[in-house]
Amino acid sequence: MLVIDQISKSFSNKKSHKLALDHVNLTINYGEVLGLIGPNGAGKSTLLRIIASILSPSEGSIYFEGKDVTTSDLIKSKISYISVETGLYEQMTPYECMFFFGMLHEINKREIHKKIEFLAQKFKFEEFLHQKIKVLSTGTRQKVLIAKGLIHEPKILILDEPTNGLDILAAYFVRETISTLKSLGTSIIISTHIITDIELCDQIAVLNKGKLVYNNKFSEIKGKYSSIEQLFLEIDSF
Ligand code: ADP
Ligand code: MG
Repeated sequence: MLVIDQISKSFSNKKSHKLALDHVNLTINYGEVLGLIGPNGAGKSTLLRIIASILSPSEGSIYFEGKDVTTSDLIKSKISYISVETGLYEQMTPYECMFFFGMLHEINKREIHKKIEFLAQKFKFEEFLHQKIKVLSTGTRQKVLIAKGLIHEPKILILDEPTNGLDILAAYFVRETISTLKSLGTSIIISTHIITDIELCDQIAVLNKGKLVYNNKFSEIKGKYSSIEQLFLEIDSF
C-alpha cells in the first residue's frame, strides 16, 4: 500500500513563488489503478515525480508498506516511472536500452537477456529489438518505454499521460498492459485526459491548482454521474 501524506511542493526563484501541490493526501492499494486527472498545470506530473522519488516534496511524506520512502532510495527498486519526457536514447536499440536499464537495477546479465526476450515477445516488438530507436514508430517506442520500465518487476507503476498522442491500436495496447499488470497485483497510478483510460481506474483523484478537489471510487462515480464530463462540470462549480 502506498500512502501520500500531506504532500506540498513549491517552486521558488528570485521572482516568483509557485505552490504546485498543496497538502495532498491519497492512498493506493495493491492491484488498484488510480487515475489522476485535472487541467494542465494542476500538479499531476509534479505529484507523480515526487512519488517516484525524482523530486523531493517541500512538505509531507510518502509511505510504502508502512515505511517512509520520501528521502530513501528504497522505493526506486519497487517503482517504475514512465513518462514520454523521460524518453529513450535515440542512438540505442531497444535491446541495448533495456539491457542498460536492467544493469542499473543490478539484475544479472542472463536474467536481463531473458526478460528482454520475454517482454519483446509479449509486447510484440521482437522484430525491432536490434533497430535504432530513432527509426521506430511512436507506438513501438511507447511499447519499448513501458517494457523497459517493467524489467525490474515494479510493484508500483507510474504512467504520466501514457496514451497521449498514440494511435488507436497503440493506446489500446497500453490499456491492455495496464489491465494485465493490475491483475498481477501491480498498483498503477496514471495521469490522463483520455476518457477510455479513466474507465480502467478503480479510484479517481482530481487535482486542480495543486489541491485534491475530488477523490472517489470509480464505481461510485458511475452511480452518481451520467458521465465523467458531468463530474467535471460539478467540480468546476465547487
Ligand atoms: P500538470 O502535470 O498537471 O500539467 P505540473 O505538475 O507539470 O502540472 O505543474 C504544476 C505547476 O507547477 C505548474 O504551474 C508548473 O508551471 C509548475 N512547475 C512544475 N515544475 C516546475 C519547475 N521545475 N519549476 C517551476 N515550476 C514548475
Ligand atoms: Mg503533466
